[in-house]
Amino acid sequence: MSATLQVREPATEQVMAELPQAGVAETDAAVARAKAAFPAWRRVAPAARAALLRDLADALDAAREDLARLEARNAGKPIASARGEIGMAIETFRYYAAGPERLLGDTIPVAGGIDMTFREPLGVVGLIVPWNFPLTIAAWKLAPALAAGNTVVLKPAELTPLTALEFERIAREAGIPEGVVNVVVGPGRVCGQRLVEHPDVAKIAFTGSTEVGRGIAAAAAATIKRVTLELGGKSASVVFADADVERAAAAAPLAVFDNAGQDCCARSRILVEQRVYEPFMAALEAAMGELRVGDPLDERTQMGPLISAGQRESVASYVPEGAPVAIRGTVPEGPGYWFPPTVLAPVANTDRAAREEIFGPVACVIPFADEAQAIALANDTPYGLSGSIWTRDGARALRVARAIDTGVLSINSNSSVRVSTPFGGFKQSGVGRELGPHALEAYTEVKNVFYATEE
Ligand code: NDP
Repeated sequence: MSATLQVREPATEQVMAELPQAGVAETDAAVARAKAAFPAWRRVAPAARAALLRDLADALDAAREDLARLEARNAGKPIASARGEIGMAIETFRYYAAGPERLLGDTIPVAGGIDMTFREPLGVVGLIVPWNFPLTIAAWKLAPALAAGNTVVLKPAELTPLTALEFERIAREAGIPEGVVNVVVGPGRVCGQRLVEHPDVAKIAFTGSTEVGRGIAAAAAATIKRVTLELGGKSASVVFADADVERAAAAAPLAVFDNAGQDCCARSRILVEQRVYEPFMAALEAAMGELRVGDPLDERTQMGPLISAGQRESVASYVPEGAPVAIRGTVPEGPGYWFPPTVLAPVANTDRAAREEIFGPVACVIPFADEAQAIALANDTPYGLSGSIWTRDGARALRVARAIDTGVLSINSNSSVRVSTPFGGFKQSGVGRELGPHALEAYTEVKNVFYATEE
């Protein structure tokens, strides 16, 4: 191992840490440690494993503010958001700490004996996570994987590895046995790819781009690995004329500009019924005027910079000269990967900005004529992760919710993710569900045992 990784602070472009960069050998060593730790970890009695996970949640809680500040600096996200995210990571460990004692099996009536099922851990699980919500998305995978009795190798994004390394240290100090949690910091195409191909890794849980997810699904086939893929999105917020239009417009900016738009659940397509297009745009402009863009460590900041210069270049390509910019916010001057919150309107659903995941603070407003067209437009995308419906008509709300092909929908709200409810996508937004009661099962195999009782 020779290479060094420089970790930058997106708001200042300054290097905030230098780390040794792992390669294939370090990844193999981490898998070997996880494999060696697995037999003892799976044998830890359920209540004892639960207690260790609660201790880990307490240890994370004690480090809450330090972790939030580290995440805010490294990911360029507002400190208020970072606090919320670290809070969610802690809550995720508390929720799944109940898991070891709730991995129930079935007894099935059969002839000649007793038939029973068990939920067995998989073994070593590889967790590959992105830079947009670094520790939170890692926790969504770590907590159920560990609760079910697996050991893990976590590969954070190279841009944001710092809270993952802190997590590894905190887990060890909280009493999680050596080798159960292993963090490898190195390039995805090297360390991530090695995890996907490694014969001793039983499952990959991945969050990131649809393109990399597609490659992981293909490579995982070679060893019939289990995969959970949480990929991109191009979610629609559908605003009907019978909605509280002011409220929908007031909520729209943070539904897409939160985390500077680097959110797979961003409502980046705002579908507005033609009859209320003008009042909606007026209210949206007023709401955007209130959005505070600036230093992530300022308590009042609501939107920070993008994660990198490359991401800014990619986002800018969706707003070329002559783009239909209807509203544009402001950004601080000086260093930092800033991009102004931007609304393109009116836009056709066939435009590139309406079809591709921009992953930046750019929203498209798309007018529609009636309910049937709204559903058709919402579904006219290869993605299906999230979305919102704004209406005062309860029957319509449920009718449209059932008709939109997406994994997570909110009615008169833009919420997407809760620790206790399932999260994941339809279509090319992914495979499987995270969080909620079912995620635990995704880190297990069902074993069926028949016990003959006839003499
Ligand atoms: P990637 O999908 O490339 O990165 C996500 C994670 O996968 C990172 O840890 C990365 O490592 C790793 N990775 C990269 N290549 C491989 C590989 N061949 N095998 C295994 N692991 C790999 O996302 P990007 O960071 O490049 O972002 C590009 C676009 O992806 C964004 O603009 C956005 O559209 C989308 N995206 C969606 C996310 C979501 O939440 N659904 C999250 C992040 C991105 P490393 O970066 O260290 O090399």
